[in-house]
This record gives sequence, C-alpha cells and structure tokens, in this order.
Amino acid sequence: MSRNKPDIVGNLPQGLVFVISAPAGTGKTTLSHMVCKGLAPHIVESTSCTTRKPRKKEVPGRDYHFLTKEDFLQKVENNEFLEHAEVFGNYYGTLKSDIEKVINQGKHLILVIDTQGAMKLKEFFKAVFIFIAPPTLEELEIRLRKRKTESDEIIAERLKWAYTEIERAENYDYFIINEHLDSAYEALKSIVIAEEYRNRDLI
Ligand code: 5GP
Repeated sequence: MSRNKPDIVGNLPQGLVFVISAPAGTGKTTLSHMVCKGLAPHIVESTSCTTRKPRKKEVPGRDYHFLTKEDFLQKVENNEFLEHAEVFGNYYGTLKSDIEKVINQGKHLILVIDTQGAMKLKEFFKAVFIFIAPPTLEELEIRLRKRKTESDEIIAERLKWAYTEIERAENYDYFIINEHLDSAYEALKSIVIAEEYRNRDLI
C-alpha cells in the first residue's frame, strides 16, 4: 500500500522562523503573501503590533494589531514582545505568544520586520534572515510614489531610511533583489524549501 506523497515543506516537528527585512516599497509584503500562498498551509505570516494608524484597505488583526501607545508600552513592560522597535515615529513589535503558537504546530513563520528589530533578534534568536532589496533607489522612489499611500515628506523620510537599511543587508543570511517579482518569489520559496532540508542537529 503506497502512502500519500508528503508536501515539500511542513515536515519538521517545529517550524522555522524566517525574518524578512526590506526598505518600504520593495515588495516584501507582496512576496511574503505569495510564499505563504504558494506553500500553504505550512508557512504563515506573523501579525505585528503597531501604534501607527491603519492605512486604507488594512484590516485590524490581519495586517497588524493596531494598538494605542499606552497599550503598546504596557505590553513592553509585561515583556510580551520578542522584539520591538520605533520606526518612523511609531512603535512596532512581534508578540512572543504568536510565534510559539505557530511554530509549535510545525508551521514556518515569516516575520516582516525592520532592520533594527531584525539585528536585535539575531543576537539571541535562531531564525533565517532574508534581506530584500529594490533594484535601485530610483526604482524604489517610483514604487513608493505609485502606491500613493504616503505624502512627499514621508516618501523622502522613507528613502533616507532605505539607505541605512541597505547598509545593514550584509548581516543577513540571504539577499534577494526584487527586480522581477516572479523571480524574487521563486528565490524566496527556494530558500524556505532549502532551509527545511538543512542538516540540523535535531536529535
Ligand atoms: P509599515 O508602517 O510600512 O507597515 O512598516 C514600517 C516598517 O516597520 C517596515 O520596515 C516593517 O517591516 C516594520 N515592521 C513591521 N512590523 C514590525 C515588527 O513587529 N517589528 C519591527 N521591528 N518592525 C516591524
């Protein structure tokens, strides 16, 4: 009697954590959604907490847990965050409880976080660190303008911050340039698959 063919991922007793950082407008959210869909149900995205206001089309609990500054700081005080950082004047953080729940089910988890949070995490947490870069900063500016969610002032601030983020890319395990979405997606998916098959000291 032949057994059903197992899926290519989702065969570890505990899921892995993939940390993705990229300057705003690089396509990290799109890529992360694509890989979660492509390898469903074995990989999911973590929902961060933030104190920034929801953008149009963002759904509370799906895109972010939108918190007041007071609630966020209370969680910091209660040590509920695995990591947290201030980005563009707002707080962002990843809840420890969300992570444990997912990886204990054998599912992989994607954290889309900024480079400050990622570098802090790297000091004490086992994860696979992936940096996604735009082809050029000019292209990044075009993409940010196209999405029409930010004012000129915010776009200028985000571009300036993009330089700092790109300088930190060398600290990541993988580096993907998102020039063509489909190729970047294939690269990201391949990394997830390869990491599942890495020879780890599991016994
Ligand atoms: P946005 O406001 O555009 O959604 O996100 C701004 C930045 O905050 C992005 O670089 C995003 O990856 C980062 N970010 C989102 N969630 C978290 C988080 O939980 N922790 C940290 N450190 N950064 C986050």
